[in-house]
Amino acid sequence: MSTLLQSPIEFLKGVGPLRGEILRKELHVQTFGDLLAHYPFRYIDRSVIHKIKDLTPLTQYIQLKGRISGFRQLGNDKQKRLIASFRDDTGTVELIWFKGVDFILKTLKPNTELLVFGKPTVFNGEYNIAHPEVEIFTEEIKTSGKGLQPVYSSTEKMKKKNLDSRGLTRLMHTLVGQTKEKDIPDFLPKEILHRFKLLSRHEAILNIHFPKNESLLHEATRRLKFEELFLIQLQMLKVKSNRCEISKGFIFEKIDNQFDKFYHHQLKFELTGAQKRVLKEIRKDALTGRQMNRLLQGDVGSGKTVVALLTMLMGIDNGFQACLMAPTEILANQHYESIVDALRGMKIEVALLTGNIKGKARKFILENLVEGKIDILIGTHALIEDSVLFKNIGMVVIDEQHRFGVAQRAALWTKNEKPPHILVMTATPIPRTLAMTIYGDLDVSVIDELPPGRKPIRTVHRTDADRLRVFGFMKEEILKGRQIYIVYPLIEESETLDLKHLMDGYESISRAFPKPEYQISIVHGRMRSADKDYEMQRFVRGETQIMIATTVIEVGVNVPNASVMIIENAERFGLSQLHQLRGRVGRGAEQSFCILITGKKLSNESKQRVSVMCKTNDGFVIAEEDLKLRGPGDLEGTQQSGVVNMRIADLVNDVKILEAARTTAQNLIESDPTLSRPEHQQLLNYMKEISKEKIWAKIS
Ligand code: ADP
Ligand code: MG
Repeated sequence: MSTLLQSPIEFLKGVGPLRGEILRKELHVQTFGDLLAHYPFRYIDRSVIHKIKDLTPLTQYIQLKGRISGFRQLGNDKQKRLIASFRDDTGTVELIWFKGVDFILKTLKPNTELLVFGKPTVFNGEYNIAHPEVEIFTEEIKTSGKGLQPVYSSTEKMKKKNLDSRGLTRLMHTLVGQTKEKDIPDFLPKEILHRFKLLSRHEAILNIHFPKNESLLHEATRRLKFEELFLIQLQMLKVKSNRCEISKGFIFEKIDNQFDKFYHHQLKFELTGAQKRVLKEIRKDALTGRQMNRLLQGDVGSGKTVVALLTMLMGIDNGFQACLMAPTEILANQHYESIVDALRGMKIEVALLTGNIKGKARKFILENLVEGKIDILIGTHALIEDSVLFKNIGMVVIDEQHRFGVAQRAALWTKNEKPPHILVMTATPIPRTLAMTIYGDLDVSVIDELPPGRKPIRTVHRTDADRLRVFGFMKEEILKGRQIYIVYPLIEESETLDLKHLMDGYESISRAFPKPEYQISIVHGRMRSADKDYEMQRFVRGETQIMIATTVIEVGVNVPNASVMIIENAERFGLSQLHQLRGRVGRGAEQSFCILITGKKLSNESKQRVSVMCKTNDGFVIAEEDLKLRGPGDLEGTQQSGVVNMRIADLVNDVKILEAARTTAQNLIESDPTLSRPEHQQLLNYMKEISKEKIWAKIS
């Protein structure tokens, strides 16, 4: 980077120490270069002048030309308000100022021809524009037109120091004026620029801030999106290729003992084609001599647990220990029980370690573990504590991996001299574009097939008014011997109120479903862990027919006899969460149902979520819809990945560019893995520079 772009931001004309501090704090802008990378988030076409009669309640921003016919002042000294009647030859609107009244009165004289720009709102059937941008309409404006103008995001604190979009535009103008071509050298290899017909970096930066015309704006955007996605991909692929080089892995040659025994004699069902395929992929990894780092995606109920178990048995057959880490106590318990059950009669030691296991019991487990007497350790994040030492861990499985932070997962790497093989599993399907980006350095396997005999869950939407009908339906299902979940939202910010709803719900259900005919369990996050477990266990054993809960049951719980999932206030859940919750039913052979209960009035987005849920059971379709509705920043698992910090590219609309960028990055890394060829020198340098700032997840 040139020295100009490295200059501290306060040295830019118009910034100084005070605003410099604000830019640092609010936008993380430290240098001239950082400011240049603060791209506009949209543009206003100032060349178009509208007529007042064209205003509609939907008009966002509009530019008008006309004259002020008079001013009115309202309010007292403390709260002054200035209103101007502004008219063109088609009508009148009001311009309103709450601040800077004296200044406006001094500078804007009635009957001068003005250009007014702003966001109209309707009040009492009249249009008004608060704090419009106003300019005297001069000959110069008339001839130059004003073209596309940038709009920059800014914050309240910035606005107070005149760093609103206009203030930023002014700074940007100064900066762009000072920036020469040599200050923004291109790091993309010529061949790539050529092949994709990309603008040079310098031209792209100029035009992203002050586009000469629509088409240059488009080209500038395309170039900068490509660059951003390409760099992410390249970094991911480099991490991956480094890892493959450095991290020698254990070789699991044998599967002739426990694995075979389990597979041929113990397993109660035939594996699906997808499960078999994934196991082959894992087995292949474990034979390469490199450390496996594989992500297993499989929709809820697709049977990931048995794949995890067979994978751990591969390790055991080769003299290693294995562990399985789950994000909650409930889930760890459930894995423990189902795995102990599945392995019954075999000579394999399985132990459970969670935060609740303390004192002597814990000491006993830790001793046995380090002596190698435990083959499989199952637990929560208690597994990663320093005191947990294995004799020889060779295989690590992490369930619902998006619940863990990168650091937590990384901690398991160091539990042996060579890192163990790692299989991370997730039931939150990730759209392909996102997977390419966040998990670009992992190998990905997908279970895209459900075990046979599952009937698709029927999902319906009901409102509060249908509650009696829903109760009736519940009774029918209970009569058939089925069990039912009722889930309430519980969000930290509104925890007290949410708990009240949950308790109210519990009471009304208890009235409609009285003892002793009906038994009800209740589980929420405020309960003691032992009580939660007790209630959960009653439901698992079939002693209660209804389980009232918050989302604590969202992850992984498996009660095949439960066939109805009722979600209260369904509009408050995100799509992937709804899908996870629904995945708690449909696990047995019976027809299962999901009932989404909402209020009568719904926002458009909520309506759409509900309708997607009623239409499809396919987790991948839902994930794509979720991405479209919310953008990647809010999707689970993206927070720590840096994807949310993308400046210009977006994973919903830029799929084509992403694919091109990924293929290009792949080819480049294959042909020149260390980027040591002269034509890649600039690129290598640039990557070194940015990797100082952004630490991409080394381990996903
Ligand atoms: P998830 O992928 O959501 O973790 P689980 O591993 O809990 O799913 O499996 C869901 C249920 O399906 C379990 O009861 C499991 O025993 C059963 N299952 C898994 N694989 C098969 C199969 N190939 N055939 C029949 N049932 C299966
Ligand atoms: Mg599971």
